[in-house]
Amino acid sequence: MDKRTFLKTGLLGIGGMIASPFVSRAGNFNTASSYKSRFNEGNSFELAPLPYAYNALEPHIDARTMEIHHSRHHAAYVNNLNNALGAAGDRSLESIMRSVSSYSTAVRNNGGGHYNHELFWEIMSPAGGGQPSGELLTAINSSFGSFDKFRELFATAASTRFGSGWAWLVASGGKLMVTSTPNQDNPLMDVVPANERGTPVMGIDVWEHAYYLKYQNRRGDYISAFWNVIDWNAVAAKLKKA
Ligand code: MN
Repeated sequence: MDKRTFLKTGLLGIGGMIASPFVSRAGNFNTASSYKSRFNEGNSFELAPLPYAYNALEPHIDARTMEIHHSRHHAAYVNNLNNALGAAGDRSLESIMRSVSSYSTAVRNNGGGHYNHELFWEIMSPAGGGQPSGELLTAINSSFGSFDKFRELFATAASTRFGSGWAWLVASGGKLMVTSTPNQDNPLMDVVPANERGTPVMGIDVWEHAYYLKYQNRRGDYISAFWNVIDWNAVAAKLKKA
């Protein structure tokens, strides 16, 4: 094989890798309601396919970022969580989060990574965007004054989180609040300050791997684009359960 043939084959190989998830998963998307932590036969945590195609959130979040984010980053958190935890037994991911201080750092980082990314995929949709309504809007208005004020607080939390982490909309004590956490921590964790703890109903990943391919250093542009893909029905459903 000469160099040119090799390059061509190599590129085709990469193209195939990119294209194949669309093909193999085309008839196999989860609906949002069925998207939740899965366990495989070995009773370990399992990476679920996305509830939409990798290119479904274009142009706001590009297909290449989605593919690498889900199939490499999220997959690695799941594998590393299973390696650190062994069999999940009858423990739910939520129960592990709530008592994460009694686990290893690897479980905190990778269990958080698994929980956070499942929530992230679930609260986005190609049919997302617009404004919340119903009980969710009422809760936002009573907690923050207005939807615009909430947007401002959330965007500020996301843009000012130094380094890698997440910004959250959290249900706690009958109210909503905006917080942010470093690394793969989340507001369920008992290592988070008590006044920032609660049930996350919406979150944005502000690790560079979530936006760098399309937005490079422009985290603010990525945060602005995120509003176009938020599935307010999914957020409302999470609030209802919280
Ligand atoms: Mn991520």
